Amino acid sequence: MRETIERCLAAGHAQGAPGGFDDLFHAPETAALKEEVVRAGRKLWERQYVDGNGGNISVRLPGDMILCTPTMMSKGDLRADELCLVDLDNKLLCGCRPQTSEILLHLEIYKAVPEARAVIHCHPPYATAHALAGVVPPGNLLSEQEIFIGPVALAPYETPGTPAFAATVLPYVRNHNTILLAHHGIVCWADTVTHAEWYTEVIETYCKTVMIARQLQPNLEEIPAAKIQEILALKQRWGLPDARLSAEPKAQPCAPAAPAKAHAAAARNGHHAAARNGHAAGQSARYRPEVEALIAEFTERILRLAEE
Ligand SMILES: [Zn+2]
Repeated sequence: MRETIERCLAAGHAQGAPGGFDDLFHAPETAALKEEVVRAGRKLWERQYVDGNGGNISVRLPGDMILCTPTMMSKGDLRADELCLVDLDNKLLCGCRPQTSEILLHLEIYKAVPEARAVIHCHPPYATAHALAGVVPPGNLLSEQEIFIGPVALAPYETPGTPAFAATVLPYVRNHNTILLAHHGIVCWADTVTHAEWYTEVIETYCKTVMIARQLQPNLEEIPAAKIQEILALKQRWGLPDARLSAEPKAQPCAPAAPAKAHAAAARNGHHAAARNGHAAGQSARYRPEVEALIAEFTERILRLAEE
């Protein structure tokens, strides 16, 4: 199914059929994703995670088309009709404004991580302060951080907007859904725009909380190792990336009985398991039924266009 979408889009592209992209860009399903991007942008701006025209958001559509924010726009003012559509080669396909100058960073992540359906780059002050200081926050201190993000990577500095900058995340991005960007900010990927925005909140709150806690007690006590193993077992069950899991791919025991809070998190995040566990089993198992329905509809539309 996915291959069909990609083949048909490629055929439309090769035949110079912009109407195919236009149809995708204006589809009702895409409109819903545009609204999700706009909502996330407003939250980033309201939480002061972006300043000026800073920050950018993207989401992967069927056929590896990428919906993204335009350049030179405040994320607090963004409207759904101002978003852009690009392909993985950064060719602007639709939109009334040029794409974000940081789109290369997003595209490298989409190419490297098939599970990544959405990417957000922003500059939240506490996490960015760690990136400026070259300090990776210590781990094993806060359960929310360990569950949703885990160990954080720090990518080296390169000039923003360049291919070299985009490539700085490649050594880390498969095993880290959140990366500090030296002298710059952060980038997060997830299965939805909303969840990528949640990760920006989780890492920012974590960096802030650890800084405050260290003022109260410089030597913070870690969550016991056995309890961290329980969290890792849950993450493995849900398919959440964690560098500690990839370092010990076959050492994880069967998941123990999860605490009540984790059960609640599991209920909230069952989609993560479907989205990411499925990656190991194959492309088709990655998506929720509603996503499959969306892909089916797009496929039908694109096949119709290809026949015209
Ligand atoms: Zn930036």
